[in-house]
Amino acid sequence: MTYLSADRLIPGRGEPVADAVLVMSEGTITYAGPRASAPPPGQGEDVLHVPVLMPGMWDCHTHLVGSRAGLGLDAVLLTPPAVAAARAVGDLAAALEAGITSVRELGGYGPELAQAVAEGSVIGPDIYGAGAALSPTGGHGDAHRVPYPWVRDCSERGGVLQTADGVDECLRAVRLQLRRGARVIKVCASGGVISDLDHPEHRQFSPAELRAIVEEAERADRIVAAHCHGKAGIMAALTAGCRTIEHGSCLDEEAAALMKEYGAVLVPTRTIFEGILAARHLLGEQSYAKAVAMADRHWEAIATAHEAGVRIAAGTDLGTSKPGTALSWGRNGAEASHLVAAGLTPLEAIEACTANGPLTLGPQAPKAGQLAVGHQADALALSACPLEDITILTDPQRITHVWKHGEPVKQPTPTQSLG
Ligand SMILES: [Zn+2]
Repeated sequence: MTYLSADRLIPGRGEPVADAVLVMSEGTITYAGPRASAPPPGQGEDVLHVPVLMPGMWDCHTHLVGSRAGLGLDAVLLTPPAVAAARAVGDLAAALEAGITSVRELGGYGPELAQAVAEGSVIGPDIYGAGAALSPTGGHGDAHRVPYPWVRDCSERGGVLQTADGVDECLRAVRLQLRRGARVIKVCASGGVISDLDHPEHRQFSPAELRAIVEEAERADRIVAAHCHGKAGIMAALTAGCRTIEHGSCLDEEAAALMKEYGAVLVPTRTIFEGILAARHLLGEQSYAKAVAMADRHWEAIATAHEAGVRIAAGTDLGTSKPGTALSWGRNGAEASHLVAAGLTPLEAIEACTANGPLTLGPQAPKAGQLAVGHQADALALSACPLEDITILTDPQRITHVWKHGEPVKQPTPTQSLG
């Protein structure tokens, strides 16, 4: 049993609690609330006091592909799986240090690495992986500069790229991801930024293909996450039954209304936009121009969704394995600051980073993301309150403790002060 007290407890959903207690036992939260009504600590039991407690954070859009050579998909394709997995070990450790206790992985080796984390071979957040992102030939998930047979070969050997054309191939592509343990299915429903030749505002996949993917995923209780920038792709994805919109750059009031009607979740991934704009050398000229063209509209899209009451979950789209860059793993908490800049309150941004995370997994969601009785015991202690300064969530130094499934996975070194 772990017995914690805090000046303030932020539950993830709902209002913060002053002078609070959190009790965790056998991986589950058994009490979270005011000290006045808390059970007393057991005889001789240590009580750790910290300034602030909040749930472990979710990063709902990541890639575990182990690429160090910029952001292009050709580099992803040409990184051997064993090298990618070895690099991902450091990425996952960095995420946990940064307070990320769960990641949704939308195109990469997530399903395989999830197994390594679950069995304890690798230290990291819980991973809910999609396997390869499904793309039409020539679409956002195709590597346009390498010979096409190489891409097809990658698909066939369970790699990180998966092209599919026509209903039959789409069905098989979903089944191949389920076969490797996918917990969510990812489709590219519009063109992208880091892909070379496609246009972010063009739709990808036909309505029949998208519908077939969604139906096959639904048969296995999986939700479909749709990469979309252009409005046409957003509308087509929602109509076909996709229930999370990734990026959503050209989302307008009509698209926001449809998202609300379907209860769909927006994962804006502002972090990748800011990272690309700050690190021009990581992308080719065409891709950089596409990022610039989408960047302002993307701010408006987040604000429009927020004003319409669309549920927003935090995701960064971080996916490179080179430490020390603006796009390195370990900076995952930055998304909270971007969401506040887009108009969310700090409390809403924290909800996007915590309680809203499991909403992006549909029927596969664990009972997690909140400091509430019966929830998975994933918690953070902070040296100061993020409701007053949201940038605290970007700084792993100020995230002093991390518990995952009730176990301490990060604790301060003796020289660190709790502030
Ligand atoms: Zn992505």
